[in-house]
Amino acid sequence: MKILVVEDEESIREVIKKYLQLAGFDVLEAASGEVALLKFNDSVDLVILDLNLPNRDGLEVCRGLRKKSQVPIIMVTARTEEIDELKGLAIGADDYIKKPFSPKVLLARVQSILRRSSVETANRPSLIINKEKMTARKDGKDVPLTTTQFKILQTLAGQPGKVFTRGDLLSAIDGGGQSKSAMERTIDAHIKSIRKLIGDDSYNPKFIKTIIGTGYKYTDET
Ligand code: CA
Repeated sequence: MKILVVEDEESIREVIKKYLQLAGFDVLEAASGEVALLKFNDSVDLVILDLNLPNRDGLEVCRGLRKKSQVPIIMVTARTEEIDELKGLAIGADDYIKKPFSPKVLLARVQSILRRSSVETANRPSLIINKEKMTARKDGKDVPLTTTQFKILQTLAGQPGKVFTRGDLLSAIDGGGQSKSAMERTIDAHIKSIRKLIGDDSYNPKFIKTIIGTGYKYTDET
C-alpha cells in the first residue's frame, strides 16, 4: 500500500515517513502542494495532507486531488477550529487530525480508513482488492480486470468460505435473462478469465475454488 505524505516541514514529514515505513507502507513525499499534485497517481492508496503549505494550501490541493480521484485523504491542521471550518466546506477529506499528533494515532487512523475503503483479504495479503477504486493487485502488480470480472471477484472475496451459486454471481453482475445453461457458461467463462489474470490454478486453487455441482467460493484456508 502506498501513501503520499504532503508536508512542508521536513522534520515532521520524516517522522511520519519512518513510522509508516515501519508499518509496511510505501511512502511518497511531497514538500509542497505543486509537487503533491504532480506526484499523485492511481497507485497511491491514501494521502496525508497538511493544511498549511506554502503557495497552494492543503485546501486547494485537496480540491485538485478530488477532481481526479476518490483516494482517501487525511487532512492535518494546526488548530481545532480549522477542523470544523473544513468540515463545513465539505471539501471531501475523509478524516482530520490535529497537530501535534502522535505517529501512533496517525497510523491507527490510516489503517482504519484503509480497512473501510478496501476489502483486504486478511489471509492472503498477496491479493489486494480495493472496492472504491475497483482494482485488484496481485503481488503489488495491477490486475487488468474488466468491471464484470472485478464484481465477481469482489463478491467472492468479500465473504471467504461462503459458497456462491452461479445464480448468486450472476445477480452480482446484473446479468439476468438468460437460460440456465447459458448463465452457467457465462459465469464459468468469467471465472476462467479471472483465474488466469490472478494466476490461480483450478486444480490447486489458492483463491477461487470450484464447488462441484454448486458454484464457487473464495478459499478461507491459509
Ligand atoms: Ca505546514
